[in-house]
Amino acid sequence: MGSAMKIKEVLGSVGGKIFYDEPMSQHSSLRVGGRADALIVIESEVQLAQIVRKLQPAGIDYLPVGNLTNIIVRDGGYRGAILLMSGLREINYRQMPDGGHYINAQGGAALAQAAALAAANELTGLEFCSGIPGSIGGAVWMNAGAYGAEMKDVIEEVSLLDANGLQATMKKEEIVFSYRRTSLPRESIILNARLKLEKGERKQIQDKMKEILQARQQKHPLAYPNAGSIFKNIPGMPAGRIIEEMGLKGKRCGDAEVSVQHANFIINRGKATATDVLSLISLIADRAKKEKGIDLETEVEIVGDN
Ligand SMILES: Cc1cc2nc3c(=O)[nH]c(=O)nc-3n(C[C@H](O)[C@H](O)[C@H](O)COP(=O)(O)OP(=O)(O)OC[C@H]3O[C@@H](n4cnc5c(N)ncnc54)[C@H](O)[C@@H]3O)c2cc1C
Repeated sequence: MGSAMKIKEVLGSVGGKIFYDEPMSQHSSLRVGGRADALIVIESEVQLAQIVRKLQPAGIDYLPVGNLTNIIVRDGGYRGAILLMSGLREINYRQMPDGGHYINAQGGAALAQAAALAAANELTGLEFCSGIPGSIGGAVWMNAGAYGAEMKDVIEEVSLLDANGLQATMKKEEIVFSYRRTSLPRESIILNARLKLEKGERKQIQDKMKEILQARQQKHPLAYPNAGSIFKNIPGMPAGRIIEEMGLKGKRCGDAEVSVQHANFIINRGKATATDVLSLISLIADRAKKEKGIDLETEVEIVGDN
């Protein structure tokens, strides 16, 4: 029995939108990626728990994703189920009796929406998210950051679904945050994040968000499909500068190209495959090692079969 058929059988009567043998190139921001055995659109926490409780004992791998702006699925595809969290996108603001200001956002909610809600309520702390096209789940998972701020600065607690389909809560102090990484267990799915923000000045918040957005629009090659920064920066040295110094701007593998505008971005010129992108990534990493003795580590996550 094929893997997709096995998932179909295991899921049985679980409802919702399920696509089998789904090309991930249609969902990733880079527009590359092989087929997932199944792509399941998550519509509720109850449905998600049901799915996990069926897949886990059957030994079927699954991977929660948000907007797929930081992930590359190899061309051989993903054996298992991709859980698209886009249906869990509730978001609200509360001021607690202790005076604290909190935004609660489900894993599939857009970061941009959380930043907009914060600004509308004169709350500061999420301005750095302006223009980051990811979801709350993706941003928490990898401790997204920009312009000197990171998710860890605002996270108060995170609700998770564990491998048994049970909910648990982790306080900020229980999570280790580092550069684009957290200690959250890989098998856990981020259901909700509680973000603690401070009262600020509406105009200052709006101006800062506008400034960040404009800077991104100027610096980033947004006219082409991309996945943001490909490599992590080295302390004190942006990866983009290293790549630029090696003369690799404009370098191509197939239709994947090192952006001329920003060397740490790889753009899809039209028909790039994941293999093209990964070949370019290897070429850059090899050159950095050989020419500069630097080990570049990818910021984008790479999953799936060759
Ligand atoms: C133009 C552009 C600019 C960008 N700028 C920045 C930037 O300034 N700073 C920055 O940090 N990033 C940036 N990114 C990368 C990306 O947008 C962020 O990292 C974002 O937070 C990823 O969210 P996502 O929903 O797309 O995650 P995905 O790509 O869908 O997933 C990324 C990882 O998170 C995991 N994940 C996603 N959702 C969940 C969940 N609910 N539970 C558990 N795990 C989950 C996935 O399994 C995967 O391992 C940029 C990307 C683009 C395209």
